[in-house]
Order: sequence, then C-alpha cells, then structure tokens
Amino acid sequence: MAVRLFHWLDESITRKIGGLSAVLLTFILALVLYSIVQLRVISQEIRELAHIDVPISEIAAEIEVLQLEQHIFMERLHYELKLAGNSSVTLQQAMQQKFKAFSTALEQQIQQLTQVIKSGLEQGKIVKKKSAHLAILAAFDQFEAAREAFQTHASQVLFNQTGTLSDQQWALLEQQAQSLDDKAIQVLREVEAISLDISAQAEEHETRFFYVNSGLGISAFLIGINVTLLIIVSFRQRMRHINHQIDRLHQSISGQKGTIATSELSPKGRDELAKLAKDINRLMSRYSEAVVHREGIEEALIRQATTDKLTGAYNRHKWEQAATALLAKMNPEQVSSIILLDIDNFKHINDELGHNVGDKVLQQLVCEIHSLIRQSDMVFRLGGEEFVLLLQACDLQKSVAIAEKIRSMLDSAKATDIPHFTASFGVTEMQPGDDLESLLERADKALYQAKSQGKNQVCTV
Ligand code: GH3
Ligand code: MG
Ligand code: MG
Repeated sequence: MAVRLFHWLDESITRKIGGLSAVLLTFILALVLYSIVQLRVISQEIRELAHIDVPISEIAAEIEVLQLEQHIFMERLHYELKLAGNSSVTLQQAMQQKFKAFSTALEQQIQQLTQVIKSGLEQGKIVKKKSAHLAILAAFDQFEAAREAFQTHASQVLFNQTGTLSDQQWALLEQQAQSLDDKAIQVLREVEAISLDISAQAEEHETRFFYVNSGLGISAFLIGINVTLLIIVSFRQRMRHINHQIDRLHQSISGQKGTIATSELSPKGRDELAKLAKDINRLMSRYSEAVVHREGIEEALIRQATTDKLTGAYNRHKWEQAATALLAKMNPEQVSSIILLDIDNFKHINDELGHNVGDKVLQQLVCEIHSLIRQSDMVFRLGGEEFVLLLQACDLQKSVAIAEKIRSMLDSAKATDIPHFTASFGVTEMQPGDDLESLLERADKALYQAKSQGKNQVCTV
C-alpha cells in the first residue's frame, strides 16, 4: 500500500490531483448514496409510525376507555336495577339505549381501526411488520365477533321482560365482560408493541445513519488531509531540488563555481516538476560542457596571442606584460634579472643551409634553454634570432651562471640534423627606477659588448 502510494506520488501533477479528487468524490458519492437509502428507510418508518401506528394506538386507547366506561355503566345498571326492580320500565329503556350507544361507539372505533390497517396495507404504507399488522387485523376481527356476541347476550340478560337479574346471571355476565376486556387489552398491547418496535427500529437507523455518515465524512477528511500533505511534501522536495539546481547554475554563471558536477543531480519521480528538474539538469550539463569548451578555446586563444608559433617561446607582447608586472612588484631583497641572447652569424646558417634549417636551429635553441632554466623562468622571442629570459628572484651572479651554462651547452652540442651554432649573451639585473626600455637597453648594451668582443660569450652591465 505504502509502496503504491509512493509510486503514485511520482505520477504527474494532473494524475495526482485527479486521483485525490476521485478518492474524495467517491467518498462524497458513497456518503450521498448511503444518506439517500438511509433517509428513505427512516422516512418510511416515520411515515408508517405517523400514518398507521400512531392512529392505531390512539384508536386502541379510545377502545380501552370505551370498554372501561361500558364496564362502569354496567355496574351502575346492576345497582339501579336492584333498587328499582321491574317497576321502572322507563329506566330500563333509558339504560338500554345508553348500552346500545356504547356498543355502537365501540363498533365504530373497531371499524375505524381495521380501516386504517386495511388501507395502509392496500396503499403500501405498511412495509415494516406487515404480518404483525395482519395478525392485529385478525385479532380485532375475533375481538369484534366476541364483543358482538357479548353485547347481544348482555342485552338479553340485562333488559329482559321480567326485569329481574339474579346474582348468578350477573356474575356470569361480569365474567364474560372481564374476559372481553382481557382480550381487548391483549390486542391493544400487541398494537403498542408494534409501535414501539417500529420506533425503536427508526431510532436505531437514525443512530446508525449518524455514525456511518460521521465515519465516512471523517475518513474522507483524514484521507484528504493526508494525501494533500503528501502532495505538498513531494512538491516542496522537488521545488527545493529545482531551486538548488538553479542556485548552482547561478553560481556557475557568475563564475563562483566553474563547471557543475552533474553526478550530484539525480531528480526522482515522473511528474512535471521532476521533468523540469531533469531538463534543468540537462541544461546544466550542457552548460558545463560549453564552459569546458569555452575555457579550452580561451586557453588556445591566449596561447596563440602570447606565444611564438615557431619556437613555442613567449612572444614580445607577453614579454611586455610579464616584464612590466615584475618591474611593478620589484623587491630589493629578491632581485630579478634578464638575459638577452642573439644567435651568432645566423644569417650564414640561413644562407648556407636554408631557411628551414635556420628554423630548426631556433627551435633547438628554445628547447635547450628550457632544459636548463627553472619552471618559474620565462623565455621570450623578441624577434628574428633574438631572445630574452626573465629570471624571477635571481640576481646577476646566478643569471650570469645560467647564461654561461646555456652558452657552453650550445657551443658543445653535437646535433646531427642542425649545424653547430653559438650565441652571445647580455645579462643585467633589474634596478630601482627601471622601466621596460631602460632594462632592455642595458641588456642590449651588454649583448653588443659580447658581440663586439668576438661573440659566443656572456657580458653584463
Ligand atoms: P650577428 O652574429 O651579428 O648576430 O649576425 P647575424 O647574421 O646573426 O645577424 P643578422 O641580423 O645579420 O641576421 C639575422 C637573420 O635572421 C636575418 C633573417 O633572415 C634571419 N631570420 C629572422 N627571422 C627568421 C626566422 O624566423 N627564420 C629563419 N630561418 N631566419 C630568420
Ligand atoms: Mg645574430
Ligand atoms: Mg639579431
């Protein structure tokens, strides 16, 4: 279940919201359908109670009262007959009329009661306890038959021609009346029991309706809250991831971080935000590649702009930059120097062996120099076969030694593909107040001296 839910969280935003709505709508639909069914049942029960059982109970109560009144009347009749004897015919007639009136009233009530049940059954108003209602109908039929029989018998006994009523006859009559009362009470209790039963059922349905509706409502609410929170959390995670990527892109563009390590970026999920994160990731790796490419081009351009194509030594432009920078941060405790060198009789090599050999000599020279100087020292080709070495934190004495080492190595070199050649060197130390021109002028002076003293030597100024 949890695994499915997390899979679902990876789905698209549309599917997530659609799924959530479907769950909530299903709950609401279940709630509505359940409410309709339950309300129909409850309303049916209440209708039955209102239209059938309440009127039945009322009529039943009326019958009970009439029975009681008739009973009292009979007691009074017995008493008065005893007093008056058969002399009062008028009293007998009056009493007989009243007794009949009770009988008619009881008959009417019973007819009304059976009518209510019969029409209720015919019109389909009685759904609950149908058989119980039919049983009541049968019981009232029996009661009515017994009542009629009693009524006829009582009339005959009470209102006979002689007008006399023996104690034995009265006791029998009373016994019959009592048995009729008992019958009536039994049927009435049954009516009461049905009413109570139906109202108890209605109440139970109402309670169940309340609990089920509340349960469904609360479940829908809790599911809604939980799923909404899960969606919010997953959105926030993805948004944080995207923000993080955009921040890194920003830093990279503003040059704070350079290239981007794409292995750090692994967006999860399949929804729109995850796709956006993947797109940003792709954009970032492309950007990263572009940065690397651009840096490569920049490096190549800088190399082209600062180095001499033939020999690989730095060019005059770079010389001006580097020497000016070193002059600017000149330190009296760490003196720097330059060595100006020029190949001797280079024109002859060119003339005699060709320009190509001359080129090779130039390349060989730079190669030899590089093998003898430090990593921090720089070699520049000022033009033609003239070079200058910038030696950082290297005083005149050490620089002369280096120049001498180079000179001697060139002089003693025995290469097969190029001719023997030598070079002359002018060495000078950077002095306070020096600029590019004055520095080079001194070195040139020293070189001129070396040339004029017979070449292949090191001179200083
Ligand atoms: P010195 O001993 O007095 O320096 O005499 P030099 O012959 O070396 O000097 P010069 O200035 O008379 O000749 C320099 C020659 O260098 C002239 C030019 O044709 C040649 N040269 C300049 N640049 C190049 C180059 O790139 N390749 C080749 N092969 N020759 C070059
Ligand atoms: Mg020369
Ligand atoms: Mg020259």
